[in-house]
Amino acid sequence: ATPVAIMAGTGRAAKDGIIFKSPAALEVLGNSEVIAFDKTGTLTCGTVTVVARESLDESIPLNIASLYAASIEGRSSHPIARAFYSPSATLIEVENFTFEKGLGVNALIGGKKYYVGNERLLEKLGICLTADVGYKLEEFQKGGSSVIFLTDDMHAIAFFVLADPLKPDSAELISRFKNAGVNSLMLTGDAEDTAEQIAKKLGISDYSSRMLPEDKLNRIKKLQSEGKKVIMVGDGINDSASLSQADVGIGLKGSMDIALSSCDVILLKERITDIYNAFLISRATMRNIR
Ligand code: ADP
Ligand code: MG
Repeated sequence: ATPVAIMAGTGRAAKDGIIFKSPAALEVLGNSEVIAFDKTGTLTCGTVTVVARESLDESIPLNIASLYAASIEGRSSHPIARAFYSPSATLIEVENFTFEKGLGVNALIGGKKYYVGNERLLEKLGICLTADVGYKLEEFQKGGSSVIFLTDDMHAIAFFVLADPLKPDSAELISRFKNAGVNSLMLTGDAEDTAEQIAKKLGISDYSSRMLPEDKLNRIKKLQSEGKKVIMVGDGINDSASLSQADVGIGLKGSMDIALSSCDVILLKERITDIYNAFLISRATMRNIR
């Protein structure tokens, strides 16, 4: 491998806002066989909005439930958090804010602990839903929406249905990689029905739902143990271990710092199809070398 070709490739990429942090990343990217994507904020815009909400506890009015959720999420930087509050919103004071990997967040309000998170969180807390509520949630999830709950230690207080549009170019990116012989894999912490819908819309046949950060990590290690070179694209704290483990970790500008610091390639233009352009630049560079 000539250093000159690598430098030329790195320079060409940089002109397009594609930053290769190491020569190794440029060498490996075009040789990869699998590209793993996080969902929220990576394949979707991450501009999450609440499209429906419902009380599950008559004693707590929905606007109070929303205020509690917003106040707790006010301390989180996950894309989901911004669905719950606007910068101008009046929030109430929360204490002991805690993030639970892959599950959600919790905090004390008036000395009592409240949680905002997904179905896995309910399972962890041992909270069951009625069949009626279960059916309703399934309908939302089959439409590709995510469902997030406000709970206390014992029971569910309200649910919120969140929609997050796909990035306009996500499907195009998947299809370009497919044509180049690179298989896409979606790894998400979200529910199965939601994941299935999103994967279908994007033309991704291989996906895994309800994944904790270590599950994402193990999936990547497994692919590598089969001798595959793996690209990982992600944006959040939950992706940082997988981004480091992957042969090439890719992050888009606007992602959390901890994710970006785990990446080998950073895209400054927030244009997801630049991942494919980076791949092509790597291939062209390596062709010159051989
Ligand atoms: P993804 O980006 O695929 O959604 P993450 O690992 O970032 O995966 O998050 C996993 C899941 O954990 C989310 O889908 C969501 O259900 C839950 N979660 C994470 N952060 C929050 C939060 N701040 N509020 C509520 N739920 C959250
Ligand atoms: Mg994400």
